[in-house]
Amino acid sequence: MNFLSDRINNLSTSQTLAMAAKARELKAQGKDIISLSLGEPDFNTPDFIKEAAKKAIDENYSTYTPVDGYVELKEAICKKFKRDNNLEYTPANIVVSTGAKQSLYNIAQVMINPGDEVILPAPYWVSYYEIIKLSGGIPIEVPTSVESDFKMTPEQLEAAITPKTKMMWFSSPCNPSGSVYNQEELTALAKVLEKYPNIFIVSDEIYEHINFSGTFCSIASIPGMFDRTITVNGVAKAFAMTGWRIGYIGAPEFIAKACTKMQGQVTSGANSIAQRATIAAVEADPSVLNNMVSAFKNRRDLVISLMKDIPGIKLNVPEGAFYVFPDVSYYFGKTLKGTTINNAEDFSMYLLAEANVATVTGDAFGNPNCLRLSYAASEEQLTEAIRRIKVALT
Ligand code: PMP
Ligand code: GLU
Repeated sequence: MNFLSDRINNLSTSQTLAMAAKARELKAQGKDIISLSLGEPDFNTPDFIKEAAKKAIDENYSTYTPVDGYVELKEAICKKFKRDNNLEYTPANIVVSTGAKQSLYNIAQVMINPGDEVILPAPYWVSYYEIIKLSGGIPIEVPTSVESDFKMTPEQLEAAITPKTKMMWFSSPCNPSGSVYNQEELTALAKVLEKYPNIFIVSDEIYEHINFSGTFCSIASIPGMFDRTITVNGVAKAFAMTGWRIGYIGAPEFIAKACTKMQGQVTSGANSIAQRATIAAVEADPSVLNNMVSAFKNRRDLVISLMKDIPGIKLNVPEGAFYVFPDVSYYFGKTLKGTTINNAEDFSMYLLAEANVATVTGDAFGNPNCLRLSYAASEEQLTEAIRRIKVALT
């Protein structure tokens, strides 16, 4: 007898979190594992944010907050959207949630009916697929490859649209490929979407500040897109606040209201202290992040230059986030030190066993030829990890 619901039985485990747990477990057993599996900055939360949280505790911000977030936070988020993205939201358009993950979950639950199709340019972030499935939606994957910098073309978008298409979800900078869509590319996608006014867009901009391309464009700022885009963001990545669990959306008011209604039955709202701390984070000039962003850029350059020497690995140069997503399909069908590698999952498991390096298989992100490595680790760890990978592969 299976007492659990079909819903949970049909849900896949988050492979990023599962690999991170496995790496932790092996480390606890005394193995010298380098974990490049989890997308989590290895910096501490900046002191000015920690101070804001301490002050909030002392000032007794200890009761339930408004379900959609403190009004001061929502106002600060509106200013941030204006400052960084040229988007004119009012507090009625903002909902603060328990991480961008919950923001995405809310959107799926309030927008998608069973059978609705949601276009996902692949590779996509691991949880989109399952969050959409949980709402009864059908993820429609649009494959891209390292050769096209993992970006979906307007022609591919148009070909994926059917009368059942309800939404398109994407992240830029992209987790896992690090690709950043520029204004011209977004305008070309928007031109296709213009013809299909009932399709809504989820633009996940959580890596907005970890961007080495020099420019950043929100699709909601492209003419005609504002009223049909839900802009998702959060403080986890840019401000090294993964554990604080604060994400937010800017959305048309009817969608914001629906997300608030959903959240009112599920969490009652995000953590009060973390919300007060987030006011300090979003009010800060993004230049406070310069050191962290340039450290990530140096690491990207290091990882790319070291990986280029490994035979058979194909890489794009990611312009943002903190991942590389090499195509490792050259190794499929080959036997290395007695282990046959048939796919990216085998490849990732081989690296864990042979090199003590934890990565995540590209399957989790909708690309079975690739592997994701997070370079949110020290330069020493990255150098050692790639040295070990090279030894394991030669
Ligand atoms: N979107 C993307 C693209 C991510 O990589 C992550 C990773 N955490 C999230 C959303 C979720 O962020 P949060 O930690 O705020 O829930
Ligand atoms: N977003 C991060 C990742 O992709 C954290 C893990 C998760 O939230 O699934 O690794």
